[in-house]
Amino acid sequence: IRTLRIGLIPGDGIGKEVIPAGRRILEALPASLKLKFDFVDLKAGFESFEQTGSALPDATVDVLRNECQGALFGAVSSPTHAVKGYSSPIVALRKRLDLYANVRPVKTVLNAAKPIDMVIVRENTEDLYVKQETTRDTPEGKVAEAIKRISEKASFRIAAMAGDIALRRQKIRESSPSIHSKPLVTITHKSNVLSQTDGLFRTVSKQALSDPKYASVAIEEQIVDSMVYKLFRQPEDYDVIVAPNLYGDILSDGAAALVGSLGLVPSANVGEGFAIGEPCHGSAPDIQGKNIANPIATLRSAALMLEFLEEPEAAAKIYAAVDANLEEGKLLSPDLGGKATTDEVVEDILRRL
Ligand code: NAD
Ligand code: MN
Repeated sequence: IRTLRIGLIPGDGIGKEVIPAGRRILEALPASLKLKFDFVDLKAGFESFEQTGSALPDATVDVLRNECQGALFGAVSSPTHAVKGYSSPIVALRKRLDLYANVRPVKTVLNAAKPIDMVIVRENTEDLYVKQETTRDTPEGKVAEAIKRISEKASFRIAAMAGDIALRRQKIRESSPSIHSKPLVTITHKSNVLSQTDGLFRTVSKQALSDPKYASVAIEEQIVDSMVYKLFRQPEDYDVIVAPNLYGDILSDGAAALVGSLGLVPSANVGEGFAIGEPCHGSAPDIQGKNIANPIATLRSAALMLEFLEEPEAAAKIYAAVDANLEEGKLLSPDLGGKATTDEVVEDILRRL
């Protein structure tokens, strides 16, 4: 029996309603998987900031770093006006735990009018997001400039991760039907214009994916603007997409719009031997406290976390149970046009595990 210690960080708003659902599904996994969980409740977010003066208490980071293999993070509310001393805990967590990849699967059910099943793998540490900006005055007015950093090391490891994900998805598909027959990784860049930065990303990604272990994976590349066009025209063509930070940010939010509700879309922040599952949605103050938040983004995030903790079988069970609920379409939350409460959706999915 393997025991995983998992940090639970509900955060604010509906984070407090969906993270308990994530815990329930992990606890309900069949004993035959020989997997146990040891949960630890941790603080982060705006409420934590108001109570403790810190949106990400050191204790939270320490427990995650020293004791946990993974975590589930709900959502945090950001103040609409700048509040002194407040900064986003998830951004800080990514930095402090070196979570170098952001992974976002975007999937409809098979019986959707236009089924899609893709995952966007976004480099999470560099590119324009190194935030090295300067502004200077010139005779023609102000000029602002920013550094775009692309490194061989970060590009290689993100491309290798995309290759690994493609192989794992192929394996998970062996036990459940899918729209894809063959794994594909699409490398996204703009090297026709940015020949050095994106050029490096492109060259190194191709090199990483030329490893014989990815022999069964088809590799293609797409310039990012035409990628957006194709993503909206033929989303069903894509399996795994790998991109530098900025393009990945934009593509992953755009792709999430293809599936109908934010309440369906999971993500994971992944580092070496550590993964945090996180629904893509925010704290949704407009529906908080009503027991109507869609828990599926969180349930899928829990599955995604398990994939990165080398438990693909457990992950596949959760994905299949969620898909069965959606395909039947009887117990859906209001964001999907249904009338079910958060608890009713969770219970329906637990029954199908
Ligand atoms: P949001 O994602 O919280 O909500 C957008 C809309 O989608 C709302 O109408 C909401 O009711 C709906 N929605 C979101 N998740 C849902 C779910 N699981 N089930 C049903 N409906 C759902 O985005 P927002 O309204 O722009 O932001 C609200 C707060 O969340 C802000 O303080 C923002 O800063 C924060 N936020 C946090 C994160 C994060 O923690 N990663 C991400 C986005 C926004
Ligand atoms: Mn974004």
